[in-house]
Amino acid sequence: YSENEEDYIPAERLTKGALMGEGEFASVYKGTYLNKNGELLNVAIKILHNEQMEMNRGAFLSEAQVMMKLNHHCVVKLIGLSQGPSLLMVQELVPLGSILQYIDNNRDRMNPNYEFKIWAAQIACGMQYLEENRFVHRDLAARNILLASQVQAKISDFGLSRALGTGHEYYKALAGGKWPLKWYAPESYNYGQFSHKSDVWSFGVTIWEIYAFGATPYGEMKGSEAIALIDAGERLEQPAECPDHIFAMIRQCWESRPEDRPSFNELVDFFNSDSDYMNIRELL
Ligand code: ATP
Repeated sequence: YSENEEDYIPAERLTKGALMGEGEFASVYKGTYLNKNGELLNVAIKILHNEQMEMNRGAFLSEAQVMMKLNHHCVVKLIGLSQGPSLLMVQELVPLGSILQYIDNNRDRMNPNYEFKIWAAQIACGMQYLEENRFVHRDLAARNILLASQVQAKISDFGLSRALGTGHEYYKALAGGKWPLKWYAPESYNYGQFSHKSDVWSFGVTIWEIYAFGATPYGEMKGSEAIALIDAGERLEQPAECPDHIFAMIRQCWESRPEDRPSFNELVDFFNSDSDYMNIRELL
């Protein structure tokens, strides 16, 4: 992100409202933004925790840099940055918030053949867009999916994402830090290799979480115990509400060899076309 002051949203154009969510690094408030055209927009204002400021300012700015370049209805949009007493990220407001919270609140009203299917198609679609733009997300998980409506899921949290340079199949990095091992492909936790195909593995875990109504993958197990299971050839079990043909596709996302996993193009086609199910394209 540019250090040029004119690129920052003036603080007086922002109004901070209620606290919506609290992450490890940041607090997220509901708010409004009066843009240059005089339009008042509802936004999410993400404020980096003060104690994290010095350490994570760089990470925050690089997340912003990634998000600024992206523009897709299945990816949370970054509107801009602002410098108050602390650094603020102004994002598109995704009104229903976290998908995990939504599933929990609407447990009895969920229809796996309706919402779950639509969300899976949209997450695949957003990931296909990221792949086209050579972005590897590296932290795709249900906790990073937000809902704009009952039928619009959006991918967020680009804190760990990286652009792939041309000619490099993998982005290599795995040093220190707390890693979401239960979402990682074997080549990621073994060799620090991240690619669109390792994102496909995480996509499988994300869709598993949705069909499992927000259950935690591998339950109480530690990350290190979960990867031992994977190395032994075991995989997450089929959630009770997950149809066989969908689980078969999820299982393919967990093939040991990255090249044996489906592509996001194939996943978009699969979740968009399903003859035993109403035509979701017409509903979108
Ligand atoms: P983490 O701890 O995963 O690194 P973080 O500190 O970066 O996260 P987020 O997870 O991005 O914080 O945000 C915390 C919560 O705020 C989310 O779970 C969600 O409920 C809410 N939230 C974040 N962004 C938005 C948004 N654009 N619109 C609506 N709600 C949001």
